[in-house]
Amino acid sequence: MNFNVGVIKGDGIGPEIVTEAMKVLDKVAEKFGHVFSYEQLLMGGASIDVHGIPLTDETIAKAKASDAVLMGSIGGNTSTSPWYKLEPSKRPEAGLLKIRKELNLFANLRPAYLYEELKGACPLREDIIGDGFDMMIMRELTGGLYFGERSTGMENGVMTAHDNLTYTEEEIRRIAIRGFDIARKRRKKVTSVDKANVLDSSRLWRKVVEEVAKDYPDVSYEHMLVDNCAMQLVRDPKQFDVILTENMFGDILSDEAAMVTGSLGMLSSASLNETKFGLYEPSHGSAPDIAGQDIANPIATILSAAMMLRFSFDLDEEADAVEAAVKQVLKEGYRTADIDSEGMTRVGCSQMGDLIAERI
Ligand code: NAD
Repeated sequence: MNFNVGVIKGDGIGPEIVTEAMKVLDKVAEKFGHVFSYEQLLMGGASIDVHGIPLTDETIAKAKASDAVLMGSIGGNTSTSPWYKLEPSKRPEAGLLKIRKELNLFANLRPAYLYEELKGACPLREDIIGDGFDMMIMRELTGGLYFGERSTGMENGVMTAHDNLTYTEEEIRRIAIRGFDIARKRRKKVTSVDKANVLDSSRLWRKVVEEVAKDYPDVSYEHMLVDNCAMQLVRDPKQFDVILTENMFGDILSDEAAMVTGSLGMLSSASLNETKFGLYEPSHGSAPDIAGQDIANPIATILSAAMMLRFSFDLDEEADAVEAAVKQVLKEGYRTADIDSEGMTRVGCSQMGDLIAERI
């Protein structure tokens, strides 16, 4: 099959890690008989340097016209880079927020998977880790508290701030459907997280999730209060498959889940809209401190490319092959600097890409 992939290499280590992900995709194409055509798109600092703004209409149009977008990361050193002397709307990160909005990427997926070989990096006790854990945090990305009206002003002589938390039925339904669809591709369990004992928006969330669940009799589901979920993530992370939640709860819980895996360079992510389209990027930033040294870990980006194969292209077998190749390389003891430990073989970014591609 033929697929058009928009590629935003971005800044810092972005170009290095995306090059490795493309290397792996090319091997998938060769092995499984597909054609991936890449269109390079500028965003972030790289776009500021050429166009003076972090995201142009042309990039948005080309991203929309592609089947999916693979991204490295954008941004520079926030203290020293001239990009951060620009007004906030012209800085690199403004491009990222704008593209998410323009492409209506309302569903954010962040897997938290503990590799057997990297158990040492997990901050939890061994008896809690057990055989490891494998969960997907599904966060609503374009609604809720972060997008509601806000204001600060004097009220009755007292400085007062308001942030509005609003969700419509439709916003909840579309993310719930995505969550149940994805659970179907996994271990068929959804934990819907809310604060229904206090918030109206959470009570609506719960009602809509229950309606959606009726269409998925093969997927089991439960409701969990957000405070309990935060606790359960460190008490017994094995219990979770898909965690489905609203914007702010998801922001916090996905960072917590990421930290219990312990390895920033391994964490992929996807942001999806109502169609098959998605933007795929590692969870980490552009790591300007190690850019251009061939020492960055490309695995999070390679795993993001695997998510693209699975969720945008419906190529499950190919995605499995990429994930298996990553596991195999770790099993053989190859490590980039960030995940290295005693007795392992240290490799650079490019060699890590070669090793994974060779095992597809
Ligand atoms: P960062 O994630 O870039 O780096 C944090 C630390 O982790 C650094 O020490 C870095 O060297 C290390 N690290 C990160 N990814 C790594 C990898 N793949 N391999 C090895 N080590 C890795 O976070 P930061 O330093 O706070 O931010 C740097 C820049 O990235 C900022 O401009 C920030 O705004 C931007 N940023 C972009 C995104 C994005 O594009 N989605 C996300 C987060 C941060």
